[in-house]
Amino acid sequence: MRIVLATHNAHKVAELRRILGPALDGLELVAYDGPEPVEDGDTFQANALIKARAAAAHTGLPALADDSGVCVDALGGAPGIHSARYAGTRNDVDNLELLLANMVGRDDRAAQFACAAAFVVPTGVAGTAVAAGASEAESHEFVELALWPGTVATERSGTEGFGYDPIFCPDGQPGTSADLTSDQKDALSHRAQAFAAIMPIVRRQLLGD
Ligand code: IMP
Repeated sequence: MRIVLATHNAHKVAELRRILGPALDGLELVAYDGPEPVEDGDTFQANALIKARAAAAHTGLPALADDSGVCVDALGGAPGIHSARYAGTRNDVDNLELLLANMVGRDDRAAQFACAAAFVVPTGVAGTAVAAGASEAESHEFVELALWPGTVATERSGTEGFGYDPIFCPDGQPGTSADLTSDQKDALSHRAQAFAAIMPIVRRQLLGD
């Protein structure tokens, strides 16, 4: 049984292949190279579903997608769903520098990484445990949200990860998420938690586990 992973972000694909590991047993993850939909939802969950629906419709395969970002309390939750294009350039370093600049002089540095994991089964997928016996009304769309709390650092630290990792200090950790090894990040991250919640649903829907 194949599942399409609806992201063009190579870092996320690598993280998700690592995170999903044993949960993929019996499922083959294939990359998505179709058109990217307009992400015009106003929540992480809505945007994750938009991406998964587009990949499912384009490929005819069950699709997994995520939408993620960093939400900073003192900035009213910004950059939030706009994290990837905060600085207007879609460049990770520009985004991180803008966030550091916007946090200069602020005492409240609380923030969360957020990740919504969405799973969409196109109607009529042959051989799926639920689609085989499902009624039209039965839901084939699922979404799980997870948060990873922390604070915004005052300067960059670490060389691992991507995006805002060098300036995000997860609660309970001595440094930033870019100071964590990939195994350490995978044990804690918003993305790992969201996909840990969605994978039992995926396996139940596709494999009848
Ligand atoms: P998306 O591809 O629309 O979900 O954009 C997510 C953006 O949020 C990325 O481009 C990163 O800037 C940021 N982001 C999400 N997850 C992480 C993470 O685990 N580490 C660092 N930055 C992240």
